[in-house]
Amino acid sequence: MAIGEEYYSVVDVFGENVFNDTVMQQRLPKKVYQKLKMTIEQGNELDLETADVIAHEMKEWAIEKGATHFTHWFQPLTGITAEKHDSFITAPMDNGKVLMSFSGKELIKGEPDASSFPSGGLRATFEARGYTAWDCTSPAFVRQDEAGATLCIPTAFCSYTGEALDMKTPLLRSMEALNTQSLRLLKLLGNTTSKKVTPSVGAEQEYFIIDREKYLLRKDLIFTGRTLFGAMPPKGQEMDDHYFGTIRQRIAAYMRDVNKELWKLGVSSKTEHNEVAPAQHELAPIYAVANVAVDHNQLVMETLKKVAGRHGLHCLLHEKPFAGVNGSGKHNNWSLTTDDGINLLEPGSTPHQNIQFLLILVCILKAVDRHADLLRESAADIGNDHRLGANEAPPAILSVFLGEQLEDVIEQLISSGSATHSIEGKKLETGVSTLPDFMKDATDRNRTSPFAFTGNKFEFRMVGSQDSIGEANIVLNTIVAEAFAEACDEIEKADDVNVAVHDLIKKYATEHQRIIFNGNGYSDEWVKEAERRGLPNITSMVDAIPALNTEKSIKLFEKFGVFTKAELDSRVEIAYELYAKEINIEAKAMIDIAGKQIIPAVIKYTTELAESINAVKAACDADVSVQTELLLETSDLLADTQNSLTKLKDVTAKGRSIADGRERAVYYRDVVMVTMKELRKSVDTLEMIVDKDLWPMPSYGDLMFEVSPL
Ligand code: ADP
Ligand code: MG
Repeated sequence: MAIGEEYYSVVDVFGENVFNDTVMQQRLPKKVYQKLKMTIEQGNELDLETADVIAHEMKEWAIEKGATHFTHWFQPLTGITAEKHDSFITAPMDNGKVLMSFSGKELIKGEPDASSFPSGGLRATFEARGYTAWDCTSPAFVRQDEAGATLCIPTAFCSYTGEALDMKTPLLRSMEALNTQSLRLLKLLGNTTSKKVTPSVGAEQEYFIIDREKYLLRKDLIFTGRTLFGAMPPKGQEMDDHYFGTIRQRIAAYMRDVNKELWKLGVSSKTEHNEVAPAQHELAPIYAVANVAVDHNQLVMETLKKVAGRHGLHCLLHEKPFAGVNGSGKHNNWSLTTDDGINLLEPGSTPHQNIQFLLILVCILKAVDRHADLLRESAADIGNDHRLGANEAPPAILSVFLGEQLEDVIEQLISSGSATHSIEGKKLETGVSTLPDFMKDATDRNRTSPFAFTGNKFEFRMVGSQDSIGEANIVLNTIVAEAFAEACDEIEKADDVNVAVHDLIKKYATEHQRIIFNGNGYSDEWVKEAERRGLPNITSMVDAIPALNTEKSIKLFEKFGVFTKAELDSRVEIAYELYAKEINIEAKAMIDIAGKQIIPAVIKYTTELAESINAVKAACDADVSVQTELLLETSDLLADTQNSLTKLKDVTAKGRSIADGRERAVYYRDVVMVTMKELRKSVDTLEMIVDKDLWPMPSYGDLMFEVSPL
């Protein structure tokens, strides 16, 4: 409990606003509850009569929490969530009163006007119909904020013709595919008890926190979420004093509030700490079933932003809010869990003997190697271009870190056909008698790997901090389903299962060895080595997008019913469009800021300087060479700024007129972005010269180091 805070029990607060299993058991008639459970667990269709009962109880429960409205909460292809609020009230009756009602039909199906959401040509505006459909596997919740209390129903979003217009639909499809193929594989390996396999996901979220008053003075942050100008402060992250440092009081109070809000929504926010860059932090929840984890990550992002406002703070979720210090990402921890509680990625203490684990492991190696381009694409967003491939964590080249122990097992398998031993963890002696000695893990960590095995899960570290983790999990689930399916095809044909499994492990390990890399992913040598190995190094979003609808990708996604070709084509189109649009906004923001704020400030400075030179000259015969030199230098830079500004105006105007989506995106990357950098260069140099009192916005130092004094 914090000073001055009223006592509350975490256990009581946790899930308080969620229509979860406990609430359903308490509220729903037994038969209805059982039917709903069957739908959740086995995907049986829900009849309208049952839905009516559930809707009624859900409404009663929500009203007790103060809810006046409900919304179908969905994730269109904008990367964030969307909602349309409807109140529970019915048309006034004869006596002038209203009733609060909510029908099964309203629960199951919604019909938002779909025409304003990106569809990439899947839907002409005259076919504006889109449907939202209740995803009963992700619990409904009541959100309390300035809008009052609202019952939020997680839904999928499809077009009139049934194509997915969102993240959830393909995610649920990919989970089904993975479940089918995992069960098939497990059965072949002798498991007769597991009935369901689901991907478990825990997303670690990085973010920056700055002071709201200062944020409001930065138009670049307001319009684009990142700083478009800004000279480096005297101190950056070189002292490494922020990472895991003591959390400052103001931030601590904020985190406390964030946690409470998330707990109410059933999001198990668990760890929080400072990150590498100044003002950067991280929040990690306990893992959950993939589709719930994806929804929860959206709630985490939303909550981080909302609660910041209450503390006079502002949360920046952009991947690269500040040049020169680390950006933010999301670590997508992923594993496979059976309904009877087995983690299929648990190697045990002697992985060399764990045939099932080894087969699953090499299948994942195969999947990542074959579809490295798709995984890279799944993490592509505009902000992430400033991280991936830009000498920062993680590199744009996909590789898998296995750690010493597993790499050794794989090497044994490749060289001699079988593995006979596993390297064991050693005792770590602290050398202090009052401190316990403890067992070291058999494997150290590697922070530079984009896809690292971390004990009993894989950690995919490429996803951007403001991006949904949906796509990454869709790709992971599907590519692993494919590898499992192909392994099953082989094993089912074989006379001897054991021999077949053994051969497959060796075959896959050998064929896909090139994807394993345990070294420093940031080094230049790795870039060369990866090229020698033939691993793709895709450094920009524009070049990542085409992976979505290659023949390989279409075949993969259609085989498992995750995406149709039309859906993939539409996503490609949307991605190009989004890319050009966002950079266009950044360019326009730069034009605005440079023209209206920076150039006038510099003119003022030069004018004052010139006047002071004249004043000094008039007063005495002193040396004014310093002032004169400054004036010359500033005037030169001012001219450079004006030139770059004019050029930026020209190139953005041209960019907007390019009709073809890909061509336009390429132009924005190769021409507009380059011109933006030019403009920034002269402005940042000016910032170091011009009187701070005249500079029209807070500096990097003001933003990053003055959030909280203690
Ligand atoms: P690490 O020390 O490897 O970072 P943590 O225990 O701190 O691991 O967990 C990091 C994230 O990984 C958390 O969100 C956690 O819930 C998640 N996680 C842990 N185990 C699993 C698992 N088996 N599957 C998916 N996610 C997991
Ligand atoms: Mg991590």
